[in-house]
Amino acid sequence: MAEDVFKKLVAHCKEYGFVFQSSEIYDGLGAVYDYGQNGVELKNNIKKFWWDSMVMLHENVVGLDSAIFMHPTIWKASGHVDAFNDPLIDNKDSKKRYRADVLIEEQLAKIEAKIDKEITKAKKRFGDAFDEEQFRATNQRVLANQEKWDKLHSRFSKALNDNNLAELRQIIVDEEIACPVSGSRNWTEVRQFNLMFATEMGSTADGAMKIFLRPETAQGIFVNYLNVQKTGRMKLPFGIAQIGKAFRNEIVARQFIFRMREFEQMEMQFFVKPGTELDWFEKWKETRMSWHQSLDFGAENYRFHEHEKLAHYANAAVDVEYKFPFGFKEVEGIHSRTDFDLSQHQEYSGKRLQYYDPEINESYVPYVVETSIGVDRMFLQVLSASYHEEEVPDVNGKMDTRVVLKLPPQLAPVKMAVMPLVKKDGLPEKAREIIDSLKFDFNCMYDEKDSIGKRYRRMDAIGTPFCVTVDHQTTEDNTVTIRYRDSMEQERVDISKLSEIIAEEVSMKKLFAKLK
Ligand code: ATP
Repeated sequence: MAEDVFKKLVAHCKEYGFVFQSSEIYDGLGAVYDYGQNGVELKNNIKKFWWDSMVMLHENVVGLDSAIFMHPTIWKASGHVDAFNDPLIDNKDSKKRYRADVLIEEQLAKIEAKIDKEITKAKKRFGDAFDEEQFRATNQRVLANQEKWDKLHSRFSKALNDNNLAELRQIIVDEEIACPVSGSRNWTEVRQFNLMFATEMGSTADGAMKIFLRPETAQGIFVNYLNVQKTGRMKLPFGIAQIGKAFRNEIVARQFIFRMREFEQMEMQFFVKPGTELDWFEKWKETRMSWHQSLDFGAENYRFHEHEKLAHYANAAVDVEYKFPFGFKEVEGIHSRTDFDLSQHQEYSGKRLQYYDPEINESYVPYVVETSIGVDRMFLQVLSASYHEEEVPDVNGKMDTRVVLKLPPQLAPVKMAVMPLVKKDGLPEKAREIIDSLKFDFNCMYDEKDSIGKRYRRMDAIGTPFCVTVDHQTTEDNTVTIRYRDSMEQERVDISKLSEIIAEEVSMKKLFAKLK
């Protein structure tokens, strides 16, 4: 069922100009996507929401836009050349490639789904009297599955932490995990695969230099740490935020824009005094969760997920997961990166990257707490939460299905559509007049084709919160009908009131006010 919804969502993204497969007329390029006329607007709004909530709302967070190409030694220092790997495994029959860790994670999710099913059933049966905690502690089926989950989870964590590829394979064999395509359990060994793309720079006689496409934007922040700190006269604690493209040669790329080979990240590195990093880690966890939940997609659809294995640079790490139609998955990572990156760059570059702390009259390498979210995964989160199919009466009172994107109005690509009832009698001119008076503030669209009912549906499908209809009465008394997307209610209002009604709903102020 949920998989069906996801398929529909993907089709919807294409049909309404949100997301296209890259190079489609050449049969596409794996895991690379383009954003269409509506997609780019939604994406820009998501970025603005993130940027302003970081840079505008925090006095001690500033922005940066560093280049994608960087000195190759940066990736040696950061550990990416040696350790930015995923464990891959091939199915010999289907020839399909998988991430060994993801296959096991999916197995864990299956057990979790069984537990959830029991709980949902019991909830229905017991109604208000249901006590979930007690049920989890006493129901035999739940307990058996929980034990299974715990055992598998601890074996999996140990294998990851020991970098034990043979054990990862053994888990897949013991759990009888089959290839979803061939259905067979005929697996190869597990191997490490480096995710960085390389290219060459320069054309001198001595040859070109091998450089990497950045797999994260963070390193551009680290190598500029001192530039920003000095020129901005920043005092610890302070953060640097950046939005930009990142590239990873992902092994498996079958989940639309959830896992892409070229994607965009919104990252913030927060520099703190050593010893205070875990307090800041907790603080940013809370701040970031409140950012997600301010969009009102339901608190029950989010959870924190502790990492099975800490990255080589981290002393604490957690993911914010959202319940996509294909299950709870990571949208954002919050990592306490210690002084690893700055210390490494200090060593490899030979330049001091320390902070002089006037309060204690000492210099040290700051510690770092990072928040890292994928724009594209956020985009998918917003669309998954907003996509609805509803049975509603059409203009003649007959039941009909409408597809509506109930996007937060602040993020909607188009804020208002203006529609003349007919294409004559001065109505189109009046409609354009309204657009001209509002287009400096809001993204407006003019639509005069087809019946009003059809036009409403088109706007529902791209999530436009307001439709304004200009009719003959408008030319007499300057009033229009405004129709609200979610309730489909209509109201007659004076044209002069439109700006205020729309601004109230689409300004990001309302979202910012909810942030912690
Ligand atoms: P995963 O385990 O799903 O591969 P990750 O833990 O490697 O993700 P991070 O390195 O923490 O991801 O990257 C931070 C964020 O960047 C992720 O939370 C995600 O939103 C985004 N991201 C990472 N890889 C991709 C990708 N291939 N496509 C789209 N977004 C991505």
